[in-house]
Amino acid sequence: MNLEKNLPLKKIAVLTSGGDSPGMNAAIRSVVRSGVTQGLEVLGINHGYLGLLKKMSTPLQLRSVSNILQRGGTILKAGRCLDFLQEDHRKAAAQFLKTAGVEGLIVIGGDGSYRGALALGKEHQIPVVGVPGTIDNDIHGTEMTIGFDTAVNTALEAIDRIRDTAASLDRLFIVEVMGRESGHIAVEVGLAGGAEAILIPENPIPVEEIVQQIQRGIQRGKTSSILVAAEGQKPGRTYDLAEQIRKKSGFEAKVCILGHIQRGGSPTATDRNLASRMGAAAVQVLLQGKANLMISQQSHQIVMSSLEVASKGKRAVDKDLIKLAQVLAN
Ligand code: ADP
Repeated sequence: MNLEKNLPLKKIAVLTSGGDSPGMNAAIRSVVRSGVTQGLEVLGINHGYLGLLKKMSTPLQLRSVSNILQRGGTILKAGRCLDFLQEDHRKAAAQFLKTAGVEGLIVIGGDGSYRGALALGKEHQIPVVGVPGTIDNDIHGTEMTIGFDTAVNTALEAIDRIRDTAASLDRLFIVEVMGRESGHIAVEVGLAGGAEAILIPENPIPVEEIVQQIQRGIQRGKTSSILVAAEGQKPGRTYDLAEQIRKKSGFEAKVCILGHIQRGGSPTATDRNLASRMGAAAVQVLLQGKANLMISQQSHQIVMSSLEVASKGKRAVDKDLIKLAQVLAN
């Protein structure tokens, strides 16, 4: 309800912001179809916050979102917009939304996108709701983000393939996965792929210790090993690590950097369904006249949590999983 005018909500907008993640399309589809079915008009904003500044938008109907459920990326396009950090630009964005008759905005993205949404909401009284769309799974308040499961499974498939050649040729591999500030992908994929060591930005391990881990494996009869490393702030850093390992131990490590293949591709059933549930829940939040909330998954249930909390920093990894992976790789 539009509480001020005491009229039912008529029009909402949806955008995808920051990096893309597989399943964003499923979330857009869900927002559009659940919104339209309940009598709402839905405006799609292109290119994230840039679209608000450049007035790039498309009205979305039921058929606008046909055949996108299985597609990676985002039909609305995502991206970063530095201008949105400035108050005067957000004022122009709010003006555009108000002129278009938009009474609520759904932002699919990560913590940075939520900071933008909260600023817009607070400064211009536009109800905003967040949907967690990022492959990194590092948002406070939700145990799962849209795209994480697909990214993990993409990386896992690659690691399984590398395992075949590592075992056949008795080789040491370091596989670099995505994760600049957080190692959720590395930990999940390392555990699932039987990695001999998991290296993440939050838990730096000295090279000497990595070498000892490899040596302990050899003493137990291992003839090949796979280390999984998050890229950290410097994608490609794994080449440096391989060189350091070589200097310290003489071990020749092969490096495989998975890079952006982890962002693309058809979303898994888990991501499609998570996105479908979260998109519909976001529409419900706006219909109920609520705002400043993020749709989250807690104990496998779709619930609402604080957008403010979600906008602050990165959710930490469970370091016990790293220890478990180490024990299981014995
Ligand atoms: P993610 O949403 O994946 O964390 P970013 O951190 O790149 O991605 O943020 C996406 C966009 O959100 C930024 O390009 C910017 O437009 C907006 N944004 C981020 N932080 C702020 C902020 N403090 N104030 C206003 N807008 C912000």
